[in-house]
Amino acid sequence: MPRSRFTLYFLLATLGLQGCGSSDTDITKAETSKSNRLEQFDRALHQHTAVLASDEFEGRAPATPGEEKTTTYLKQQFLAAGLTPGFGDSFFQQVPIVEIKIDPSAVVDIKGDTMNARLTYGVDMMVGTKQQQEAIEVSDSELVFVGYGINAPERNWNDYEGLDVKGKTVVILVNDPGFATQDPQHFNGNAMTYYGRWTYKYEEAARQGAAAALIVHDTAPASYPWEVVANSFSGPQIDLQSPDLGASKLKVEGWLNLDQATALLAAAGENYETLKLSAAKPGFKAIPLNHSFSVSFNNELRRTTSNNVIAKIDGTEHPNEYVVYMGHWDHLGKDPSREGDQIFNGAIDNATGTAALLALAKEFTLHPPKRTVIFLAVTAEESGLLGSKYYGENPVYPLAQTVGAINMDALGSIGRVKDVVVIGHGFNQLQDYMERFARQQNRVTIPDPAPQKGFYFRSDHFSLAKFGVPALYAEGGYDSLAHGKEWGRQQQKDYQDKRYHKPADEYRADMDLKGAAEDLELYFLIGDELANSRDWPEWNEGSEFKLIREASRNPQ
Ligand SMILES: [Zn+2]
Repeated sequence: MPRSRFTLYFLLATLGLQGCGSSDTDITKAETSKSNRLEQFDRALHQHTAVLASDEFEGRAPATPGEEKTTTYLKQQFLAAGLTPGFGDSFFQQVPIVEIKIDPSAVVDIKGDTMNARLTYGVDMMVGTKQQQEAIEVSDSELVFVGYGINAPERNWNDYEGLDVKGKTVVILVNDPGFATQDPQHFNGNAMTYYGRWTYKYEEAARQGAAAALIVHDTAPASYPWEVVANSFSGPQIDLQSPDLGASKLKVEGWLNLDQATALLAAAGENYETLKLSAAKPGFKAIPLNHSFSVSFNNELRRTTSNNVIAKIDGTEHPNEYVVYMGHWDHLGKDPSREGDQIFNGAIDNATGTAALLALAKEFTLHPPKRTVIFLAVTAEESGLLGSKYYGENPVYPLAQTVGAINMDALGSIGRVKDVVVIGHGFNQLQDYMERFARQQNRVTIPDPAPQKGFYFRSDHFSLAKFGVPALYAEGGYDSLAHGKEWGRQQQKDYQDKRYHKPADEYRADMDLKGAAEDLELYFLIGDELANSRDWPEWNEGSEFKLIREASRNPQ
């Protein structure tokens, strides 16, 4: 090829490229910005985590001076980055919270022909309520065994089929039929579906009109011992204030320990071990237990208000479609009764995820998105996902128009790793985006190692997923580039044992957040692609959220 023709061809090709809005300088700029981006993420993560996890912020407990400092800092940083307020002309969405503290002298009786027992609070059973009332009473309510207490239309499964449980007390098995049978074709096998989560059991029983629900505690399917139930139910139960004062919820949410449950079932002529399996098979029918349940207790109520912080960048072409990044800003505050360090700084959990929101927000201002991108720093995750729950129930931006959500809760601090752990592996198509971008980083996505524990249902994205929004929840992996897998697992265990939810979760300047910066790069690329495409990622076939999404996207 003569030289002149080659030059001409090259020139035309370059002009052609320019016609598409790109040029050599743009490409160089893109590459520089990519390598700068990782450095900027790393720097921003350190900078903001150091501030948010400092003693001055007092452990960021909701409705304390620590909240005031945290939310003010977030607002200032969002403003400085050039974002606009996400709640009208304010950055703050108020979240009304109520604390319900039960008097442990609660009296519980089970009565009938075979069993007459007064149960001991904390030992035989736990009871509580989400109804905002000073006194709760249920008397002589008929007991009914409803198996796993599941109503799953997409699986043609309804444990309440043909049953009227209004005013009755339902006894429910923990986890789901997949776990009971370990059959991967049944529900999600060993991996928990939302139907296995205890919160679901109470929600469904309330929808069915039951007065009370008692979940049978069994360590293996629950994945935690009785002490965990006893401890977490004996403290104040924290919930959102609601205009109906919780009237749509159960009067009594409770647990029976395994001995009492076995005794009750035996009194009705049933065997617990047999029922556990028969209730896991299709065609199971609820069983009346021919005994009654009575309970009365008093509550102390305390009402407070906290805030979600919301910032946004308006989309240039589709401003009414939304991509959401979220992370909880709150942590456990301080405990003046402790010897020594009293502040739960929550550096990893979740100053890192909050810092990540600020870092991503700034990055998006350099790449104006076609769809609107929302940055949602939610409160009171540690008290039961309350801030996100409030947003889910009172969405500022329609959830049907929300393309997807990415949640960040506790980023990795062990440096660069080869893997990224997807919690809720195989749930929805956002994982496909992550796999693709992870490959570009020479990394792989791996499933959550303990899917039977249902971690997907235990952080903030779930408050949106529950209403059908496809949500991605991942965490940094273990396979350290520098030190290998074993070392990485040991580091993870160290964090769980020594720092998780302890005052020792503190910021250190020598934390290696380079792996977290790479995760942030993934989150950025996913969100950037979503925000600049017409994509509507979906839940995968068989998901308990697929029908909910379809109904929300295509209302009848
Ligand atoms: Zn957290």
